[in-house]
Order: sequence, then structure tokens, then C-alpha cells
Amino acid sequence: MVQIDRNPTREVQIGSVAIGNNHPIAVQSMTATKTTDIDATVALVELMDQAGADVVRIAVDSKKDAEALAEIRQQTTANLSVDLQENYRLVSLVAPHVDKIRYNPGHLYHHEKEKPWQEKVRLIAETAGDHDCAIRVGVNCGSVDPAKKEKYDPADSITPMLESAWDHCDFLESTAFERFCVSLKDSDPAKVVEVNQRFAAKRPDIPLHLGVTEAGMPPEGVIKTRIAFEQLIGRGIGDTVRVSLTVPNAEKGQEIRAGREILQDIYNGRVRSVVTFNPTGMNIISCPSCSRVENEAFVELAQKVKKMTSYAAEHSITIAVMGCRVNGPGETDDADLGLWCGPNYVNLKKGTKELGAFSYDEILGQLKTELDLLISGAKG
Ligand code: SF4
Repeated sequence: MVQIDRNPTREVQIGSVAIGNNHPIAVQSMTATKTTDIDATVALVELMDQAGADVVRIAVDSKKDAEALAEIRQQTTANLSVDLQENYRLVSLVAPHVDKIRYNPGHLYHHEKEKPWQEKVRLIAETAGDHDCAIRVGVNCGSVDPAKKEKYDPADSITPMLESAWDHCDFLESTAFERFCVSLKDSDPAKVVEVNQRFAAKRPDIPLHLGVTEAGMPPEGVIKTRIAFEQLIGRGIGDTVRVSLTVPNAEKGQEIRAGREILQDIYNGRVRSVVTFNPTGMNIISCPSCSRVENEAFVELAQKVKKMTSYAAEHSITIAVMGCRVNGPGETDDADLGLWCGPNYVNLKKGTKELGAFSYDEILGQLKTELDLLISGAKG
């Protein structure tokens, strides 16, 4: 076993699992079923629990989802976390049924725009405290607090994420709530490494949840994640992890198994890095999907994109494939070509320019046309 001196993070209890303070690194995952489909969601929670998940996260967007969550809680003993997405006001409905609440600082602006974020976070923290819940402040590259983004050069995506995270930590502590961890996710493993290292240098006491968002399909998704985890965990950074993979629901246990395998390898010294993820070829990023995914054909679409684009494997081009219209537009901003699903159409974007919405039958052809243009332009 390799001796890793872990950061002296504070302990955070999430149901029956404790993270931080040298506890074993916990492995998490998230459901991708409609939360209102109680049977399917319970089945997926159980599948992940049996695969060894320490915590399973469920997204809640509406009162109906919150009602379903109450029923799901009755049917499983797994440690549950809830993803509040934009709807922070649902916190009082969900907190009684879960062990942890995740909110995204960048999503607190979507409702009640005039209300300061501090008021919203105070409500979340008070409710979490009343119901014995931990909190995760989940900062994501594609949905950073707009006020922070404005302050910096658009090329610097990392400083706004950090400032947002640090501000939220300070504010939560000012309300005397300390039972929280932080995540700072990006789809680029190099950025995940940098942002988490910089965060931990200033706040080594706060437990970190690590993950590469939209890592994509296996095996690339696992490799990207492994690169980031090796470099962070090997330096003592990280208290809980999630491997996000675009796989069908029946195979979601892969996320847990991949997480455990990576951790085991790191602790046994079987590391492959000093690697920096610097693709000189095609890079396909795709979200792991969640209850928001707008068409069940999403995973199949991501797989088809991978197959269709294989002829261009040696070109340094990034294609992003996302499952919904809420996060799709923002999360595809940094890709050369971006796709995000609606119920009946798939939206296509080249850089930041939207090219239109195409049916599920048409989209691959459209994507190929744009890819060919990009390749010929690059050559020219
Ligand atoms: S892009 Fe949409 S569907 Fe995919 S994980 Fe994010 S919220 Fe869920």
C-alpha cells in the first residue's frame, strides 16, 4: 500500500457514511431515471447500492419529484443525496427524506432573480440543519455564478469557479453550518486537477467531492477520470468521488466499480499518470444523463456519435453530447461541435453558434456535414 498523506479535512457525516478526516474515500453515483418513475428509480438506487455505492444522488425538479422521493426513501436503505438543480425552494420538501443536499451556486439565479443568493443558501443550510443533512456545494464549469464569470477573462474558467466556491464556504460557515463538502467539476481532467488543487491550497480543511463531469463513454470516460483522480488523490486531495459515465441504466454499476478500481490502483501504486490529458485526437465528451434526460435515445445517440466520428479520430476536435436543454447549451460552449437533446429534436451548435434543431434521424448526417467542414477548414 502506498502511504498517502491526506489533507486534514473536517468530518462530514452523510447518513451512515462519514467522509473527510481520513475516512476511506467514499464512492457515489446518481440515478438517471425519471424520479417520478418510482419503481425504476428504486431499482437503480438498489443496483448502485449493491454495486457498492456509499451514496446515491437523485435529482428533484418539481413537487411531483419531491413526492416520489418520499416514496423512494421508504423503499431503500441506501444513503440518499438530492440534487436541487434550480429549484432551491423544494429543499423543505426533500430534506426530510435524504442524507445530503447538493446545490449548484450557479443555479441559484434561475428563480427569484432579485433575491440575494445568501438568503437562498441560508434557507438551504437551515433546512439541512433541521433534518440532519449534509450539503454539497457543487460548482460546475458549465453553470458558474454569472456575477463571478463577468469579472474575469472568458478564457479563465477556473478563477470564477474558485471564487464562487470560496464565497459559499465562507457564507455557510457564517451561518454556523459546517457539515458540507465542495465539488469543482469540469469535463477537462487537467482543469479538474488545477481547480481542486487551488481550492485545497486555500481550504485544506474542506472535504472535496471529486469528479470529471461529462467524462463520456467507457473506456475514455474512465481514463479521463483516472487521470484526474490519480493526480489529486495521490496528493492527498479528495474525500469522495464520482465517476460519470454515459452508459445505459442497467450498466450504471460500472460507475461504482470504476471508482473503486481507480482508488484501489492508486493505493497500490498502480498509477498511469504523470499524464496530462492533452488529446491530439478526437475527444467526445458526454454527460452521464440523469432524471432530466429528455429522450431515452440519448445514450444510443452518444454511442452513434462516437462510432460515426471514428473516421476523424486523428483530428483534434471536441464534440459534446448532452442529455437535456437545461444544461446542454452551457455545457457545450467549449466544444467545437455540441449536441443536446430535446424530447423530439437534437440541437446542434458549432462553437457558440447555434445551427438549429434536427430530428433524431437527421442529426448524425448534420453532424457529419459540420465535422467534414471543420476538418477541411482545419486543413485549409
Ligand atoms: S446535461 Fe442534463 S441530462 Fe445530462 S447530466 Fe446534466 S442535467 Fe442531466
